[in-house]
Amino acid sequence: MSDSILFTNAKLFTGVDEEAIDGGAIWVDGRHVRYAGRLADIGPVPDGVRRVDLNGQFVMPGMTESHAHISYTNNGPTELDKTPVEEAMMWSIDNARLMLASGFTSAISFGSVHRIDVHLRNAIDKGHIVGPRLCASGRDVGATASNADLHPDYARPQMEGLGMLADGPWAVRKAVRTLRKNGANVVKLFLDGEGLSGHAPPGELTYTDEEVEAAISEAHVRGMRVATHSRSAAAVKQAVKFGADFIGHANYLDDEAVDMLRRARDRLFVGPAIAWEVQFLANCESMGFTRQAVREKGYEREVEATVDAVKRLRDVGVRVLIGGDYGLNITPHGTYAKDLEYFVDLFGLTPAQALLCATRDGGAAVDPGGMLGTLEAGKWADLVIVNGDPLSDVRVLQDHSRISAVMKDGQLFCGLTRNRPYHASADDLTAPRPAAAGSRLAEQVLAAE
Ligand SMILES: [Zn+2]
Repeated sequence: MSDSILFTNAKLFTGVDEEAIDGGAIWVDGRHVRYAGRLADIGPVPDGVRRVDLNGQFVMPGMTESHAHISYTNNGPTELDKTPVEEAMMWSIDNARLMLASGFTSAISFGSVHRIDVHLRNAIDKGHIVGPRLCASGRDVGATASNADLHPDYARPQMEGLGMLADGPWAVRKAVRTLRKNGANVVKLFLDGEGLSGHAPPGELTYTDEEVEAAISEAHVRGMRVATHSRSAAAVKQAVKFGADFIGHANYLDDEAVDMLRRARDRLFVGPAIAWEVQFLANCESMGFTRQAVREKGYEREVEATVDAVKRLRDVGVRVLIGGDYGLNITPHGTYAKDLEYFVDLFGLTPAQALLCATRDGGAAVDPGGMLGTLEAGKWADLVIVNGDPLSDVRVLQDHSRISAVMKDGQLFCGLTRNRPYHASADDLTAPRPAAAGSRLAEQVLAAE
């Protein structure tokens, strides 16, 4: 018989709306939520169900990191492919654990080094390692002289792990078929570039319509979804026109782009992935760029344009997702929840609205079947228990010591962060790994404070 556990005395944010319920209860039966709401309304609960009093802790749905690069190793932006694959694989196992520990129970990959994502996903699904539900991508697909073609020609062998250069519709189809053969769920496609890139700036389309149509139609025939790097209005329009599922960045929008996104809002998601720009502006000097050079490359304007773009998209009901480009030296793994702070401070959302982007909307992006993102009877039991109130200050989610536990698919994980290594105490050794619901370890962690 599967585990059945009833959490009581929670401040419960179900993700269905912006409200939280004081005195909330959530009943998890096996891998599903059986009830989430006021304890008073729960009805009869059998004697055999374990009860855990959360002492007023906050319970929310698991979050989705919607633009993940789990295989990146906290390198600089031009060194993403410089870590040997064996070492990157070891990092990635740790990164996956850290992402789950940070409260992110799902992730949509926007590009993997080598085939690491696919192997991570498989190991996570089999229970060999811990990590989020992962929509795995493979190597980036881009044209010659695109943003996937980072290095000068004499250094081309360095590209092996990061990008697949494909020019022309049939080469693009072959790249997508290769990703399919290798087990990817997501195709990452570069439609334009970066301010930093001399040969692929935002706004200069790196693929023709014919190539984009080939890539996306080929991916969809094979049951894969497509994530695009689209900074400019032109690249966003190209993505929408040919049916991309996840549009990354969307920094510069014109009226036509906003209208196209509005009309497609039920089938696609946009993620601004603003962390990279914000942190690049803050740390440019330590990365060897003067403030003047960064300004000339347009990064200050890009942040301003993105604030405007997010506001326009939300005004017309386009779902804007949390996450993006964590795993670089300036956006290290484990800091994913910074995005919620950017959504509040930069984009002007309330904490509750930012949480809905991370939970309800991120869950809908991961699972179009509707089993993720909210805590409602019948859905998969993915949740986070927080010793604090993110509705008062979303930054509490950046503090791993305040995340008491994470549940994914009905399995309760405690002590996942670096501050709480597995074998910190004798109790850790006696607890199953991951801790089963209702174990001594779980109860101790949950009762903390
Ligand atoms: Zn990215």
